[in-house]
Amino acid sequence: MLQDKIQQYTEEIERFAPQSAQELEAFRLKFLVAKGIVRDLFEEFKTVSADQKRALGKTLNEFKQSVEQKYKLFQAQFASGTQSSKKEIGDLTLPGEGFAVGSRHPLSLVRKEIVEIFKKLGFTVAEGPEIEDDWHNFSALNFPPEHPARDMQDTFFIKKQAGNDIALRTHTSSVQVRMMENGTPPFRSIMPGRVYRNEAISARAHCFFHQVEGLYVDKGVSFADLKQTLYHFVQELFGEDTRVRFRPSYFPFTEPSAEMDISCTICKGKGCTLCKHTGWVEILGCGMVDPNVLENCGVDSAKYTGFAFGMGIERITNLKYEIKDLRLFSENDVRFLSQFETELI
Ligand SMILES: [Zn+2]
Repeated sequence: MLQDKIQQYTEEIERFAPQSAQELEAFRLKFLVAKGIVRDLFEEFKTVSADQKRALGKTLNEFKQSVEQKYKLFQAQFASGTQSSKKEIGDLTLPGEGFAVGSRHPLSLVRKEIVEIFKKLGFTVAEGPEIEDDWHNFSALNFPPEHPARDMQDTFFIKKQAGNDIALRTHTSSVQVRMMENGTPPFRSIMPGRVYRNEAISARAHCFFHQVEGLYVDKGVSFADLKQTLYHFVQELFGEDTRVRFRPSYFPFTEPSAEMDISCTICKGKGCTLCKHTGWVEILGCGMVDPNVLENCGVDSAKYTGFAFGMGIERITNLKYEIKDLRLFSENDVRFLSQFETELI
């Protein structure tokens, strides 16, 4: 009997509470498609006697509506992902789950600090490509071909080509060259960036690290300007009681050249393992830009002089935070990184 079937299916539909979209889809396939139960019942309705049609017709239409409503109800819940029951909501009185906030990488913190100090002195920030040609990385900077000074920096070559090899830059000095080639003096900029050397990775050396170089070229720039600028920088970064000393050194691109030491930040000059009991630690190389380099870059060395300096950001960070192993900077160990200042931009 049609009446009994409708009654039976109505009970089934009332009990129906799908837990997944798949169950709901099975429900649709069972009842609502062209060969589904609803359509079958309407087919069967055609065969009942005329006196039954009036009462049964109403029942059947109500049944059809209840099937469709049930389907729509769950369809909406699964579609919006808001199917809710008390079990899934959980205990609303519990405190919320905290979320982890990242921290800045120590190298980024120190680079930012260095950049801020030089910005106050009127230096702008310049950047350049990490893949360089021989001219910008070596030749323009007074490293003649086959010159032994090139061996000071083990290079990752990308492409050997006659007279102008392509390599990963070994220092950010290449940015200085590009700046002078493409502009007119005065130049007063710092160049922070990543550099690459073909070295075995250890606690004290890595195949990539970060530098900040600086360049100041103008009429009448002297070594006194260089000393005063760097002295100011060190006092800002490490504190006013930090002392400095300059030792003569050699770089192909500066003449005269010097290395700058500061009084040990750990023992304040009394002597410790960091400073090898000398009381001093080296932090940067510097000097007056060699006139050859100025000429190579199209700057008139009879009119202009300049100074340049360069430091490793890792070195400065090691001193500031007493980090003894360079590898920590690139291992991405959260236990290390999370110790540094959290700063929202
Ligand atoms: Zn010391």
